[in-house]
Amino acid sequence: MKALNFYLLYMAFLGSYNKLNVLGLIISPNNNNNNNNDNGNNNNNNKNINDYKSTSDTQINAGDGYHQESSESLLKTEMKKYDEQNPQKESSQEFSKRDPVGGLERALETIRLNKTPLPPWLKTITGLNDWPGLEPPYIPLDFIDFSKIPQIEQYGPSQCTIVPRDSCSFDCYKCVEPDDVYTCHKLSQTFDDGPSDSTEELLKHLGDTKSTFFNLGINIVSHPNVYKKIIEQGHLIGTHTWSHPFLPSLTNEQIIAQIEWSIWAMNATGNHIPKWFRPPYGGIDNRVRSITRQFGLQAVLWDHDTFDWELLNGNSQRTENAIFEDVKKWKADSASKGGLILEHDGASKTVEVGKKVFDIVGKDQLTVAKCIGGIDYIRKYSDLEKKL
Ligand SMILES: [Zn+2]
Repeated sequence: MKALNFYLLYMAFLGSYNKLNVLGLIISPNNNNNNNNDNGNNNNNNKNINDYKSTSDTQINAGDGYHQESSESLLKTEMKKYDEQNPQKESSQEFSKRDPVGGLERALETIRLNKTPLPPWLKTITGLNDWPGLEPPYIPLDFIDFSKIPQIEQYGPSQCTIVPRDSCSFDCYKCVEPDDVYTCHKLSQTFDDGPSDSTEELLKHLGDTKSTFFNLGINIVSHPNVYKKIIEQGHLIGTHTWSHPFLPSLTNEQIIAQIEWSIWAMNATGNHIPKWFRPPYGGIDNRVRSITRQFGLQAVLWDHDTFDWELLNGNSQRTENAIFEDVKKWKADSASKGGLILEHDGASKTVEVGKKVFDIVGKDQLTVAKCIGGIDYIRKYSDLEKKL
């Protein structure tokens, strides 16, 4: 039923997302090489960037609503900042009334000015001059061996009936592989979909407790200062892809593009390469795993879902109290079972819930790496190395 919920939510938000994208609210590429809609060959490793098949709107769904709220509040913050810095100019609000699109565009400029710059090494690797939009282009990488990727049919979030059991789909069958992490010996929170402007509230509340954040590349480069703050406070950061698609619905090249751009966002903003990966919507099967493993990533799932994202859906039956009651039960069980809790820091509402969940769970929590005694990052670069 969860997959169905995702799908319905995705349908509800699709309109908003298309609108946001048209307005360029999510960073638009200056140099977009991914518009070549050729065939949909699933396992062809001979394509170059110009052959990349663009995903359709229905595949890039990012449909859990967090990005919409966070982008809107980000916009308001940025408009306010712009007005403070430019008192001589007509206020953004007035400007927007006169010319809504022009007003938004002006505020968006300030967001773009604050983003992580595309470093020279990445320009060399990709041949691009700016970060991509929702559909990142596939850049071939030497170390990816396509012959290791199993031939498993692509499927959408509501298509579990066509998914074979032996593909070990987590979203369809809750199937996990031996190298997947899905629980912890101490009950611990994890947060997906940030960084957003709401994340800072959560960071303050967590105090000295270290948590795990699975960030979207597109949000990392548009909120570099929040990202750096998460690192400064000693939290662990993993990748949650570049722009939140349901990965099993994508081609191999599109999955690679989602992962490579998210890693580059982390490297360019935080000087490190992630070890941990959480698939959006829990969408992972052995085809996705075979790709993410080649990046050295280890998949992190969960065994306790707050369904906090449902609070953002006006028609949902989920309430904050129901979430807190669930967490209290998990807490009561945690001495024997522990657990990993799925939450989100992409919107103020889910951050508020996250703070209260923290009060219930308590300070004694672990990062995912600590849960299994693993490393935090595959590699950390010093500032000196970065300059070379
Ligand atoms: Zn997510």
